[in-house]
Amino acid sequence: MRKYSVFAVVREAMRAHKGWEAQWVSPEPRQSYDVIIIGAGGHGLGAAYYLAKEHGITNVAVIEKGWLGGGNTGRNTTIIRSNYLYEESMDIYEHSLKLWEGLSQDLNYNVMYSPRGVMMLSHNVHDQQSFKRHVNANNLYGIDNEWLTPEQAKAFCPPLDISKNARYPINGAALQRRGGTARHDAVAWGYARAASDRGVHIIQNCEVTGIRRGPNGEVTGVDTTKGFIGAKKVGVSAAGHSSVVMGMAGVRLPVHSTPLQALVSEPLKPIFPCVVMSNTVHAYISQSDKGELVIGAGTDQYNSYSQTGGMQIITHTLDAICELFPMFRRVKMMRQWGGITDNTADRSPIQSVTPVPNLFVNAGWGTGGFKATPGSANLFAHLIAKGEPHRLAQGLTLDRFRTGRLIDEAAAAAVAH
Ligand SMILES: Cc1cc2nc3c(=O)[nH]c(=O)nc-3n(C[C@H](O)[C@H](O)[C@H](O)COP(=O)(O)OP(=O)(O)OC[C@H]3O[C@@H](n4cnc5c(N)ncnc54)[C@H](O)[C@@H]3O)c2cc1C
Repeated sequence: MRKYSVFAVVREAMRAHKGWEAQWVSPEPRQSYDVIIIGAGGHGLGAAYYLAKEHGITNVAVIEKGWLGGGNTGRNTTIIRSNYLYEESMDIYEHSLKLWEGLSQDLNYNVMYSPRGVMMLSHNVHDQQSFKRHVNANNLYGIDNEWLTPEQAKAFCPPLDISKNARYPINGAALQRRGGTARHDAVAWGYARAASDRGVHIIQNCEVTGIRRGPNGEVTGVDTTKGFIGAKKVGVSAAGHSSVVMGMAGVRLPVHSTPLQALVSEPLKPIFPCVVMSNTVHAYISQSDKGELVIGAGTDQYNSYSQTGGMQIITHTLDAICELFPMFRRVKMMRQWGGITDNTADRSPIQSVTPVPNLFVNAGWGTGGFKATPGSANLFAHLIAKGEPHRLAQGLTLDRFRTGRLIDEAAAAAVAH
């Protein structure tokens, strides 16, 4: 596939952009593959790319019921950070953050990773104690995270209201300067192009409807709306529907699915230099390169597979944004949408072998898996190729729900975006 470069842009500009090729091929499925990955989000496409690049496994298909990146990958608010509390989390999110730093070069595709800093607001004594614990744990582990006074927080993000009589008073903030954002659909497209270039088949508009098993219980392939496709190994990376897809193989996943919403404003001139999250009042905000304020809410309180969400959730979030940043009160909102997140009880992901031989699962990234895309994909490829988890993902296996060795980022962070 042709390399993207300044020279290519100039050449195409001279010939009315007639020479650009399709970014990935859309072939008819083969009868069978060495590996099938279910779900063409960033995690699934990335895993296919790393299978080809790092493990030499190219007879791979990624099967997607809709269009690639149409799941949560294209619906999230793109916050990237690695300042989680527990070692198991820090390992995988920091691995991911390091991959983000070189991803555009690696894929030869501009994913617009922007390390503009992620600031998490503290509103009360509990927040302060919790965030300072995070700062200390992160620093001891070699991950950047620092504590800011309210005045330092205001200097970092001038639109922030730190007045003493604010409805949500601010008594400090934790800042990860290497955190930031990336363009979410470019991540899906970049991985798809690079995987396709290495021979991976990306099959869209093809829903997996069943997982077939052989006489010894092992996976033999998948039933799809385009017919049966055989596979020696199957990886499930179908966020939002992980439990539905795993149920096809008779595996009951410990996840529940809830809608999560986001919305964007009309475009504004550059006004918001960083990412700000308030876990306590549950609102987070950044500004896209197009100028839109990108705002995220909390999950609905009920389980659902609807890609919409409760009105009261989104109004609560906007209420909080207006309190924290009074200057945005008159900004108009342009679009709102939802995605389905699959959540575990400890709010940490699952990357694991399963009771079914040759069936692997990557799930439970809930409201915070975009930031993990490169790291998760990279380690999921390792799991599929080697049949055992990578050192950095050893704590994320399914057996923790049996042994009780949970990684409780829910209690530690209250929010996972
Ligand atoms: C509103 C919102 C805001 C968020 N904000 C953030 C954030 O700021 N930062 C962050 O880190 N994370 C965030 N997240 C979470 C993040 O988006 C997800 O954790 C992550 O994108 C999951 O990626 P994925 O590739 O696993 O899943 P997806 O992109 O959802 O891909 C899974 C794919 O599987 C496909 N699929 C499902 N069932 C089948 C089937 N039977 N057959 C074939 N294909 C199937 C789906 O169509 C889908 O395309 C947010 C999520 C939402 C919804």
